Parts: sequence; C-alpha cells; structure tokens
Amino acid sequence: MLICGETLTDLLLVVRDLSVTFPDSNGGLHALGNVSFDIRPQEFVCVLGPSGSGKSTLLRILAGLLAPTSGTFSFTGGSTSLSVSGQQPRIGVVFQQSNLMPWRTVLENITLPLELEGVNSGEARTKAQELIDLVGLQGFESTWPRDLSGGMAQRVAIARALIHDPDILLLDEPFGSLDALTRERMWSELSRIWQARQKTVLMVTHSISEALFLADRVLVLTQRPGSIKLDLRVDLPRPRPEEIRYTAHFGRLARKLKDAIG
Ligand code: ADP
Ligand code: MG
Repeated sequence: MLICGETLTDLLLVVRDLSVTFPDSNGGLHALGNVSFDIRPQEFVCVLGPSGSGKSTLLRILAGLLAPTSGTFSFTGGSTSLSVSGQQPRIGVVFQQSNLMPWRTVLENITLPLELEGVNSGEARTKAQELIDLVGLQGFESTWPRDLSGGMAQRVAIARALIHDPDILLLDEPFGSLDALTRERMWSELSRIWQARQKTVLMVTHSISEALFLADRVLVLTQRPGSIKLDLRVDLPRPRPEEIRYTAHFGRLARKLKDAIG
C-alpha cells in the first residue's frame, strides 16, 4: 500500500484489514471483509459501491460510531500521531439527511458543536459566521430549518461539520436526497470548500459521476462483504468545470469504474 519512499507519517488515515460481521440468527452477516487503504492529508477520496456493500458501515467505524469485528485504523495526522486509542482525531460527519435541530436557527445549528465543547458564544458565532459565508448562506442566519431547501440544509450540515476544524470530513451520500440539478451545484460548492479549507475528505457515494467530479482517488467496493476491488487515481485537472463530464478521458475513467462495480 505504501508508495516507495512514503512513510506512515505522510498519511492521515491508515486502515488495515477492517472486517465487520453483524450478529444475526444465521451465523452472522458479513458486511465488510478485509478493507485496507491509506489517505494522505488533503486528499479527496470517494468510496463507491453497490447498495449494501458496507459503505456506511465503513464510515460509521471511522467516525467511532461502530466497533469493527477485526482490523485496525489510525489517524496519524501528519507528523503528530493521533492513534484512535490515544488522542482523539477531530472528525466532521455529514449524513444523507442533514439532521438539523428544528428548534434552532441556521446560525444556532452551526454553533451547536462549539457550545457543547464549552466555547464562549461570541467566539462560536464569529466562527459560524465565517462558515455561513463559506457555504454561501449569508442572509439565512436566522432562518429555521423547516424553511430551507434540501440543498441549503446540507450546506448547513457541512458548515456544522467544519466548525471544529476537523482533521477529516466523513461524508455519507450527503447529496443523495437532492434533485439532480441541486446535486450538481453542490458538487461545485463542495469542491470549492474543500480547496478553500484544504481538508481531507472521505465521501461515500453510489454515483460514478459524483466520484469522478470530486475525487483524487476512487475506491470501489465489491458486493457484500465489501472489500476494495479497485483504487483508481482520478487524473483530471482541477478546477473541474461541469463540461469535464463530457470529455473522452472522463468517459474512460467512468468505464473503468463501471466495469469494476460490475
Ligand atoms: P451501504 O451503505 O453500502 O448501502 P451498509 O453499510 O449500510 O451498506 O450495509 C451493509 C450490510 O450490512 C447490509 O446488508 C445491511 O443490511 C447490513 N447492516 C448494516 N448495519 C447493520 C446493523 N446495525 N445490524 C445488522 N446489519 C446491518
Ligand atoms: Mg449507505
């Protein structure tokens, strides 16, 4: 896995032989089988796979929401070691549904993680306002979640995930519930935010176009139990205009991913 000359300290995340079996009445459901990969700082990596291949399970493990049955992972954070058993890595998570608190405004939803950490409200509001500007929600600070479109709600969720300056953003089909046009607009937005904030991103998707438009690398999972079938480098130039999807090279990469998914 390590490229020649690369050391573990050049990596942000190291995953080795992760397996998950969920107990059931039938001897166990093997959801994930021996998944290994690395992520470098500031890489944008997409995990692509058919429904039920264990993508969400993988993300939940990395977010610390689920324990693997076997295998290890560690956030090395460049030269400072952030072993999962020691210092906690800072992780921002966004799911398919924005999960906003309906009784809090846009601004109050974004400040929530800082309030829970005991940061004073003035500082929390200043940071939230910077993120509101970054995700393009100026003027909606006092809006209630029920009055937001799906795309706007996901922008709030992304801002909330960024507020404690995470080492890595874990995104689980964050645009899956949006209509096609809004989804494509959100790709450009996410790409812009990723470049502006220089974040490391691991994003789950089942869309080939989404993965190719956004990622530096795409990991393709096999059918359950999911393991990595292809680790594809996306050598498309950045920034990527929408029209890049109609180029021959985009088409060739899409074909490789489609063949790997089967
Ligand atoms: P994906 O996100 O790729 O669609 P998931 O990670 O959600 O796939 O699920 C992988 C498999 O594990 C599926 O068959 C799913 O039904 C099963 N699964 C997921 N979570 C649980 C759970 N908590 N208990 C039992 N089975 C689960
Ligand atoms: Mg899923």
